[in-house]
Amino acid sequence: MTEPILDQLAEKIEIADAVLIGAGSGLSSAAGYDHYHWSPALSKALAPFQEYYRFSSPFAGFYHCFSSYGAQWAYYSQYIRFMWETPIGQPYLDLKEIVGSKPAFILTTNVDMQVSRSFSKDQVCTFQGDFGFCQCCQPCQDQIWENHSLVQRLTQALDGVNLPEEMVPRCPDCGRVLIPWVRDDTFLEGTAWQEGVARYRTFLRHWLMEQTGKKLLLLELGVGEMTPSIIKLPFWQLTAQNENVFYACLNQKDSHAPEHLKGKSLYLQGDLAETLSRLRQKLCKTGSVSG
Ligand SMILES: [Zn+2]
Repeated sequence: MTEPILDQLAEKIEIADAVLIGAGSGLSSAAGYDHYHWSPALSKALAPFQEYYRFSSPFAGFYHCFSSYGAQWAYYSQYIRFMWETPIGQPYLDLKEIVGSKPAFILTTNVDMQVSRSFSKDQVCTFQGDFGFCQCCQPCQDQIWENHSLVQRLTQALDGVNLPEEMVPRCPDCGRVLIPWVRDDTFLEGTAWQEGVARYRTFLRHWLMEQTGKKLLLLELGVGEMTPSIIKLPFWQLTAQNENVFYACLNQKDSHAPEHLKGKSLYLQGDLAETLSRLRQKLCKTGSVSG
């Protein structure tokens, strides 16, 4: 990581009137919560399941075809409870300090609650859902339910990698099993999801159209190549089409730097946890954040 680029980014943050953050899985990996590989924290929390099923990753367990709903919810309850109760990762805490009191919005494809537990709901759009909620598997209705107390209750009833079938949570209306509110083929894009997208659009409209001449910084953090249509491509388009938008892309790996965004973008490759920590220190020195 080169110092001048970090200085340049710190300056862009300081002069920005508002910040739009696009957070991908790399940000959670930097926080120690990699759901696509077995990180130490998740290996420990899900040890009996990892040993029994040999899942290739925690997220592979989510998509596994279990032999019963009891077996499925045994895994879900332990996995979800971990996400509710594990500490907020340092990169998320640093990010909060970095944006400070500036108007900010976070669009994320992460479903592991780190964003929704770090920022207030009116600042967040969890585009792919959020493990902190359940939906009917059908779904028969436009309702999602917060599940913290549910998973606390279920994990207390676990017998190894199994949960008694009668404890499997079911839809109060149709009786079908509940599932986490996370993107798959029956994902509920109902009122809660639409409200999240509307919050994002309102933020954009405000800073791009209602507030003329204001500087909007797009800060893309750990976004991979898997679903570019949600964060990366819209961010490129917003940058290209609006003269007061600047785009910063922070990633562990090398990122594409489109030619047409030259002069309106910067790219910082390297460890995201370290970058955010150093950025926080820089802004702290200049008095932009409290430290
Ligand atoms: Zn139902």
